[in-house]
Amino acid sequence: MPDYTLENYERPKLDAPNGEQRILLHSCCAPCSGEVMDAMAASGIKTTIFFYNPNIHPRSEYELRKEENIRYAEKLGMAFVDADYDTDNWFERVRGLEQEPERGARCTVCFDMRFERTALYAAEHGFNLISSTLGISRWKNMDQINTSGTRAAARWDGMNYWTFNWRKQGGASRMIELSKREEFYQQEYCGCIYSLRDTNDWRQENNREKIERGVKFYGRDGVDCGECSE
Ligand code: SF4
Repeated sequence: MPDYTLENYERPKLDAPNGEQRILLHSCCAPCSGEVMDAMAASGIKTTIFFYNPNIHPRSEYELRKEENIRYAEKLGMAFVDADYDTDNWFERVRGLEQEPERGARCTVCFDMRFERTALYAAEHGFNLISSTLGISRWKNMDQINTSGTRAAARWDGMNYWTFNWRKQGGASRMIELSKREEFYQQEYCGCIYSLRDTNDWRQENNREKIERGVKFYGRDGVDCGECSE
């Protein structure tokens, strides 16, 4: 049984599609992106982080998630693009889908919007390859993410969306290990106002405390990955 822990794992060199040496990596948050960023760095793939997440609500939560991601990008010496927080556009796009469950139609629209902007920035800045850290979370439907990413990339000639499965070979557990080592902020809902509502409703039904935003950090106070989402 191979050892996939952070300390013992010997990362294989990743071969990006078409031999690309450069990628624009959409990132949703520090916990999800840490393992992916490490994998890119270890493979010598020049990575620019693209933080475009107007879905995250409220703004204080958005800023906290972003700052944590910047902190790790700086540690690895990776470029970081701080894109728009155009929440009006996000709410416009998901209108009518407010009651959709997580992994439903609203999430497809949310992924499409974020990946379309990622692909646009990539096209404007000479990247042929994009991907996202969203797929590493076990709370997400990887096929749904890959379909959205591939659709966004297909709008541009010569652009690819890398559908690499970041969960395999222990990726999902290293993600938690790394989050603890770096003491990343631990969000407890996916991001939008509707996921916050639904997670709190679920907690109430299960006699759990409501979410207290901005207070939990991996590796502190014995916090484990209970409901980390994005
Ligand atoms: S639950 Fe998450 S992926 Fe779905 S719409 Fe809300 S923020 Fe986007």
